[in-house]
Amino acid sequence: MHQQQTEQNEGTQSSGTHPTRAYPARSSNFSALQPSTSADRVQVDDTSLTSTATPGASARRSRRVPSVAYIFAPFAALVHDHVPANPQRSSMVHCLIRALQLLEHENIEVIPPSVASPDDLLQFHTRSYLDVISKCARGVAVSADTLARHGLEDDCPVFRGLAAHIRLAAGGSNTAARTPHPIAIHWDGGRHHARAGSAAGFCYVNDVALCVQALLATHARVLVLDVDIHHGDAMDSAFREDTRVLPVSIHHASPGFYPGTGAVDEGVWDPTGEGPVAVNVPIGTGCGDKTYCAVVDAVVGPVMERFRPSAVVVVCGADAVYGDPKGAEIARWTVTPAAIVHAVRAVRRELARVAGEQGKLVILGGGGYDHANTARTWANVTAVCLDGVVLPASVPDHTFAMQYAPLLDMAVDAPDPLEQRRRDPYTDRGGQAWWRLARLIDVQVERVPDHRRASDGDERQWATDESYEQVEQVVASQGEAHQRASSSTVQPGATQ
Ligand SMILES: [Zn+2]
Repeated sequence: MHQQQTEQNEGTQSSGTHPTRAYPARSSNFSALQPSTSADRVQVDDTSLTSTATPGASARRSRRVPSVAYIFAPFAALVHDHVPANPQRSSMVHCLIRALQLLEHENIEVIPPSVASPDDLLQFHTRSYLDVISKCARGVAVSADTLARHGLEDDCPVFRGLAAHIRLAAGGSNTAARTPHPIAIHWDGGRHHARAGSAAGFCYVNDVALCVQALLATHARVLVLDVDIHHGDAMDSAFREDTRVLPVSIHHASPGFYPGTGAVDEGVWDPTGEGPVAVNVPIGTGCGDKTYCAVVDAVVGPVMERFRPSAVVVVCGADAVYGDPKGAEIARWTVTPAAIVHAVRAVRRELARVAGEQGKLVILGGGGYDHANTARTWANVTAVCLDGVVLPASVPDHTFAMQYAPLLDMAVDAPDPLEQRRRDPYTDRGGQAWWRLARLIDVQVERVPDHRRASDGDERQWATDESYEQVEQVVASQGEAHQRASSSTVQPGATQ
């Protein structure tokens, strides 16, 4: 299977006769990662890469900065295609977005990822973990015990190009953080499970944490909204001590579902009273668009109003979308790309409200194991960042078009969640989480300590009594809507 994918990649590179079938000609970059090269030993050409990827380079141009930076380079996609959990996903995603002509929009600028240096990676990862990765890349024997100690087994095996994947995923998200564009998209990032000293949950590098750290250089507060269906566990622990960062995770939780963390009251409130460390919003089985959007509306506005970040990172994993074999299918969710788009729209709106023109939005990828639906979702999110773009109903002809067969629709055909609920007595429990969260938001508002306000140097940005009332009003109005929705469901006690 891997061989097949490599061959298709080669086809992608060389099929330059059709404008929608080929990446822009960058032969020098492609040549650095020819499949015949041992990818684990690939020495990424730092000199040529950094010269084209200098963050802020576009700002020096005379023309205005487009609103969206799209972090992508063909050679990087070929590297990320080798991630065992997501073979060829990167190429599929970028090819669809390119075929939809979104990269030709006047408001988008394609910027290649920088290559993270070892010092960059050490900002989050341990030296011993990086040493093991480096040894693997150089072909040095590493014992099974050492690999296991660093999580490099089972769902995170060592693979060809692992070191390059880590450096480019981290570099891409760093680039996204540093561009002057109000919005930066890096679909090859979002690896939110990786720990400082080990790989976990298909994630080898926590580019999300590195991206947040880069944003903290210029932003006082950074909110991370994680809509991947799995709890963003490593983000909770990465910034537990840092009150400048607030991870908010909307995810599925049920017995046995990975990673088994993220209960609504788990770590939400630091018992020392130092402040909120994370907001966890677990949703039960059977969630559809209606529930999902209601939860987003209940969470995003009040939390943004309260925390008032000037930068937001969205971990936009698409495994919450219907059909995902490692996410939605297990959770029996019927969420469609429209719900994920709704979340991104909500963040954009709220960020504009609380941060104005200073707001910076970084959108990263994440999980997504039904690659066609992942590409559909991320194409829709990319389009919504380019205001006014309407996508066609059908997938355009391109190299990977048949991956979307038989319907070739851009939409995801999900069953009606209400019908599903009639068949399934184990109904959606999202409402329970919603109500508990509403109460926690109240607690959070009451207990933000004074020293946090002082350390920010801008007391006005923190909630006043007036904004507290606004939060209450939002929660109350959402609650009424929620109750109305609940009463219209078929199952007694079912919530939507
Ligand atoms: Zn996931």
